[in-house]
Amino acid sequence: MARVTLDSVRKTYDDTTAMDGVSFTVDDGEVLGVLGPSGCGKTTTLRTIAGFETPSAGSVSFDDADVTHVPPENRNVGLVFQEYALFDNMTVAENVAFGLKMQGVGKAERRERVTDLLEMLGIGGFEDRDPTTLSGGQQQRVGLARALAIEPSILLLDEPMTGLDAKLKRRLQTEVGDLLSDLDVTGLYVTHDQEEAMVMCDRVAVMNDGRVEQIDTPRGIYENPANDFVAEFVSLDAPDLPFVEWA
Ligand code: ADP
Repeated sequence: MARVTLDSVRKTYDDTTAMDGVSFTVDDGEVLGVLGPSGCGKTTTLRTIAGFETPSAGSVSFDDADVTHVPPENRNVGLVFQEYALFDNMTVAENVAFGLKMQGVGKAERRERVTDLLEMLGIGGFEDRDPTTLSGGQQQRVGLARALAIEPSILLLDEPMTGLDAKLKRRLQTEVGDLLSDLDVTGLYVTHDQEEAMVMCDRVAVMNDGRVEQIDTPRGIYENPANDFVAEFVSLDAPDLPFVEWA
């Protein structure tokens, strides 16, 4: 996977400034959370990394390569969207192999990669299942397997837990967080859910009105919020956070 850098990215649509000088680096193997209220520019940031949006100013690099003007199909990014968006006219295996097929990877290698990935994600043996017959959590893993199959430079996750019930969500936050960490994935995790960002990400960028207000570890943000906006936005029930130790 790659190191991803945004340098002073600005994105304007007519009279709206969606990103206003956004700079950060996602280190190789790190999952960076992008957290903030609705309309603060999270999705635009993700879409700019994916290449669906071109910055009005500034640059995007993968490792040392400037990809600012590289089209999405040549960026090798893995995408996981909310509500899975699996292809329901395809089996689990066909879903996971989709990107590989597009890349021209042969059938035998596709089958092997799919089997390995499903096994790794704890859904081994589900190859021939119809994704609509799977539970929410299982479907989410299929979505993750599909995104990881192409061995992406970066995995982009856009509110992937939306639509799941609270109990499952909580379990998956821990499971998927551990999984991303074990797989050494470079990831950008967009969410408006403070707890989710804190539980799942190595570092978190808190955005407000197109700008990054603070970027730090969950503990750093929680213990030393940079300003009133961050303090208010991340004010949480502390007992739910794994890094808060109670005397
Ligand atoms: P978030 O994901 O944090 O909810 P977005 O990145 O979707 O925020 O949007 C940031 C701002 O940019 C919002 O004010 C939104 O209305 C605006 N915006 C996003 N995409 C477009 C677009 N294609 N055209 C015009 N305005 C847009």
